[in-house]
Amino acid sequence: MTNVDQELKKIKDEVVSCKKCSLYRTRTYPVIGEGNHQAKIIFCGEAPGAQENKTGRPFCGAAGRILNELLDSVGIKREEVYIANVLKCRPPQNHDPQKEEIEACVPYLERQIEIIKPKVICPLGRFAMEFLMEKFGLKDQIQGISKIHGKVFEAKTLFQKITLIPFYHPAVATYNPNMKEDLKKDFKVLEKFT
Ligand code: URA
Ligand code: SF4
Repeated sequence: MTNVDQELKKIKDEVVSCKKCSLYRTRTYPVIGEGNHQAKIIFCGEAPGAQENKTGRPFCGAAGRILNELLDSVGIKREEVYIANVLKCRPPQNHDPQKEEIEACVPYLERQIEIIKPKVICPLGRFAMEFLMEKFGLKDQIQGISKIHGKVFEAKTLFQKITLIPFYHPAVATYNPNMKEDLKKDFKVLEKFT
């Protein structure tokens, strides 16, 4: 195991026994994240859904099938990238992430980003977009996801330059086929980063 593998394993061990917010009471499995530990691109969703909660794997249900299709459409293999969520445990009835849940859980995501050091982070949906843009100093450029989906933002951290590209959440395309076409158009921008 490399250092990176070890540090990610440490996060996994912590999340598995985490009780920092009330979601641990109702989860079956937490969903830590999966993919390439040297990924250039991290995709970040909102929170596990029903299927993810049952398996412990991110984006393995209906939204995951859309995400796979989108990756396919731009020639990116799912194994090349890393996929995580803002919240690691499923909110009952898929309720919107609450402020205190986000505050409790995001240190795990922040560490995953620091360890993997991706060049590009793609927030999927409003909650991931708002959190990540704020984290990377882009708060004043936040707008509704319907305005800024597919746009490329450059952020500088202390040690690195990082690109943020927010997308609509793939789940929107499970009940609206037009949205899938919009998502596919937006994903084309990723061809420049692979
Ligand atoms: N929706 C998300 O935001 N994340 C998942 O892992 C699955 C569905
Ligand atoms: Fe811990 Fe995050 Fe799960 Fe809350 S959602 S119990 S903070 S891992």
